[in-house]
Amino acid sequence: MRRRNSNSRIGTRAGLPCVFAAVLLWAASCGGPGAPAFDGESAYAFLREQCDMGARYPGSTGHLRLRRYIVEKLGEFGASVSLQPFEGVLSTGDTLRLVNIIGNFNVGASKRIMLAAHYDTRPVADMDPDPANRLTPIIGANDGASGVAVLLEIARAIGGAKPPVGVDVVFLDGEDYGESGRPWDFCLGSAWFANNLKGYRPAAAIIVDMVGDSDLKIPREGYSSAASGRLVDELFGIAARLGVKQFANEPGHTIIDDHLPFIRAGIEAADLIDFDYPYWHTVADTPDKCSPASLEAVGRVLLEYIRSR
Ligand SMILES: [Zn+2]
Repeated sequence: MRRRNSNSRIGTRAGLPCVFAAVLLWAASCGGPGAPAFDGESAYAFLREQCDMGARYPGSTGHLRLRRYIVEKLGEFGASVSLQPFEGVLSTGDTLRLVNIIGNFNVGASKRIMLAAHYDTRPVADMDPDPANRLTPIIGANDGASGVAVLLEIARAIGGAKPPVGVDVVFLDGEDYGESGRPWDFCLGSAWFANNLKGYRPAAAIIVDMVGDSDLKIPREGYSSAASGRLVDELFGIAARLGVKQFANEPGHTIIDDHLPFIRAGIEAADLIDFDYPYWHTVADTPDKCSPASLEAVGRVLLEYIRSR
């Protein structure tokens, strides 16, 4: 993703109580015994497995391998899986063959929540302090693998018991291929998805990106607060209620990321992101900079958000 300027402060209110659920297992639990649980170690294993595939930029072997891996895992967890292939056109005129991956849970539910993350990684480490590394593709443990890891673990957790609302996990392609200074060449998968909704209107779209930093601190991203304050309030209210310290209910950076096409499409959308990561777009964005506890912090909030719909 790409950073923008600063932001504005927006007030908060308490998170919603866990009221009801359509499915007994979820209803009985409300976070208690029997509730689908998010396992940080399991999520971290998903992160590592991705990084073991090497760089995963469009056109690379790792990118293709990861696509197959995500499809296989979603099938294993009981999702209805579909692919959305499209051609990403860059401002240079070059085209990329890209594929969004979609996993649906509780297909019959009309009320739906969308969770999304980009699965591609950046083809160049253009922010690396060493100029000799700047044409090297990144491994993207945090920028790429962390969001996918959270989504896969959510899918694993909810796969065993139908969630109270429809849940769609979307793995977006072509987020991080653009050149610095050309913001329209980023977020290609989310733009395609949001421009081809065909009647799909999730009640909320939550993007997770760069959520694995072992020193995780997620503030309120600027565009999310401005356009989707209620959703951001709910997420940070849940984090406070659960005692998840990695969510800091304060204004953060304003960032060009995969939530913007959804906001433009009139969907309530928020970006959970910790942009203060010294290894961003460098060859040092590796699994040792990430932790199971950080992934679990985000996953717990998302699961509780689903549970409290
Ligand atoms: Zn990036």
